[in-house]
Amino acid sequence: MYDIIILGSGPAGLTAAIYAARANKKILIIAGDTLGGQTGEIATLENFPGYMGSGMDWIQSTLKQATGFGAEIVYASTTEIKHGESDYTIICDNGKTYNATAVIMATGARARRLEIDGARELVGHGVSYCATCDGFFYSGKHVLVIGGGNSALNDALYLADLAREVDIVYRKPSFTRAEAIIRDRVNARENIKPIFNTELKSIRKKPDSDSGELIATTTNGDEIVCDGIFVAIGHEANTDYLDESIKRDDVGRVIPDALPDGLFVAGDEQSGIKMQVATAVGSGCTAAMDAIAYVNTKEK
Ligand code: NAP
Repeated sequence: MYDIIILGSGPAGLTAAIYAARANKKILIIAGDTLGGQTGEIATLENFPGYMGSGMDWIQSTLKQATGFGAEIVYASTTEIKHGESDYTIICDNGKTYNATAVIMATGARARRLEIDGARELVGHGVSYCATCDGFFYSGKHVLVIGGGNSALNDALYLADLAREVDIVYRKPSFTRAEAIIRDRVNARENIKPIFNTELKSIRKKPDSDSGELIATTTNGDEIVCDGIFVAIGHEANTDYLDESIKRDDVGRVIPDALPDGLFVAGDEQSGIKMQVATAVGSGCTAAMDAIAYVNTKEK
């Protein structure tokens, strides 16, 4: 039996673990399948105060800090949360269950999928949701990035260091959604070209192409031949393990005010907070302090 179980091993979950373990609570982090969530995929984290380096390095050192204070970690994904009379049971895909007085949900968000013909079938065969994971395979090639937010532009910048040519396909006329500093960097790169007012309708393999080229067809019927397509069209909360009793907003993020006693939420999974490492850290701290206070009332 744990005092607090933390679901997720991104910035929110690991910050919560540091605070709760340092308060002498018995802590388990249920990390998910991979450590660090989306932060682990950031090539250079450069807007977290006092740090400039790889997202995974930051995650690993933050995890070390949490385990140094006694937090335990298991690599599994949560499939269900059951609320008992005085505790919570977490059911995981490793076949095990874990119990705790309080639970902090910090399972973050995942990339929104592009729902057009061919996109699903071609994931891993030219279509990718992770520029830092797959960009290397497109060295010297021509790639498309789909989307117009910070993620799409950051992906384009990362890919521009590897690929010959990067086209950003965006459905609006300008990149007003992305931060000015990122827009300026994109504008300064000669091998990045925006294709505005454009949406894709389908993706297919180019017939008889030895190098695995793709043909992306726009809603206007134009065809763009490229070697790879990186999709960055936003995120949706990882909340598949929750039942309908947990209130969520219109993009699936958990509304903290409506949670039952002993259940807390932090990070990208939390409705209303900006999706940033810095805000995730702050909300992880808040959730931990609330969970510690809750556990203390149960110990009396
Ligand atoms: P986002 O800001 O929600 O942007 C998603 C983009 O995808 C939008 O441009 C949207 O177009 C487009 N889009 C959505 N659905 C589409 C579809 N079906 N087909 C084509 N395009 C589609 O998502 P994000 O860029 O992943 O960022 C998420 C959050 O993380 C934001 O708060 C962002 O600031 C933050 N973030 C910050 C940084 C940083 O360095 N500071 C880096 C990455 C992410 P419309 O504009 O037309 O809606």
